Amino acid sequence: MNEPAISVRGLRKAYGANEAVRGIDLDVSAGEVFALLGPNGAGKTTTVEILEGYRHRDAGDVAVLGTDPWHANRAFRERVGLVLQSTSVSAYLTVEETVEQYRGYYTSPRPLGEILDVVGLTEQRDVRANRLSGGQQRRLDVAVGLAGDPELLFLDEPTTGFDPGARRNAWDLITNLKALGKTVLLTTHYMDEAEHLADRVAIIVRGQVVAEGAPRDLAKGEHAAVIRFALAQASPPLPPTITAHRHANGLLEIETESPTTVLHELTSWAVANSVELEGLTVARASLEETYLRLTREAEREAAAEAAATTGEQAATSGRRRRRGSR
Ligand code: ATP
Repeated sequence: MNEPAISVRGLRKAYGANEAVRGIDLDVSAGEVFALLGPNGAGKTTTVEILEGYRHRDAGDVAVLGTDPWHANRAFRERVGLVLQSTSVSAYLTVEETVEQYRGYYTSPRPLGEILDVVGLTEQRDVRANRLSGGQQRRLDVAVGLAGDPELLFLDEPTTGFDPGARRNAWDLITNLKALGKTVLLTTHYMDEAEHLADRVAIIVRGQVVAEGAPRDLAKGEHAAVIRFALAQASPPLPPTITAHRHANGLLEIETESPTTVLHELTSWAVANSVELEGLTVARASLEETYLRLTREAEREAAAEAAATTGEQAATSGRRRRRGSR
């Protein structure tokens, strides 16, 4: 069996009293695209920086390409590529000069032409970095990350701020990397991006993994599909066999495991009663719904914990006051 590209057990990291990472386990196989998802402050970047060897952990076992990244040597750095949230390439060098500069840092770099090809910057090879569009600059960041022909690439929010076309190009790029056999660990706030690209995802909330698996399997945890429509006010009531919830936007929603049967029943009822199902759509359950449910649950738990702590503190200070007044 292949050695896992990344293996993490019981990872913990606190900044003072703030426990940013609270016991994370992760396994990423070689050749996999793995996405870390989670709200702002969930602990994704902290985790990734520990895996990159740039941040010290408080506890836990971490192996990246079989090495503890905190004790990593040059050989490890040659096998790993980083694309951080912001990169500082020189504004005045051309695309080719920039990539050549970084290729010079490695003993067996990937050929320049291949790098430019994979990231889609062949036509811009003579353009200065400060003349590139935002999307092209991000692709140059990826080109720099690929200079040493790494086996494993860390991509921190690779498409934040991209227009839809640039995002699609970036997705093609990551698909190309996968085709080259690279392992990719990416962080993203876009659920469609994770659904499109990732073999597996982990959802991190408040420093813990709350769900992990293939995006499609996590989405199925909710229900197979959602049917949405609107009814005119004068419509007769829906048949009792159909349970629909009214959404905040006024649409009726039916969550179902068997969309074909339910849709048949609904449309038969509508035709028989001459009712128009306005704006009728059927959507597959999405990762976004699972993500929102899990993050909301975690927020509620955090609020309840905070309230309990405040209550305890109030009770303690009340006891102190009573003791003090005796
Ligand atoms: P985002 O999606 O906003 O990038 P994230 O999931 O990457 O968030 P982290 O950046 O890992 O989250 O932050 C986790 C927690 O640790 C947050 O509460 C953050 O304020 C805190 N934190 C992160 N870096 C530091 C630091 N260098 N010093 C102190 N606290 C930090």
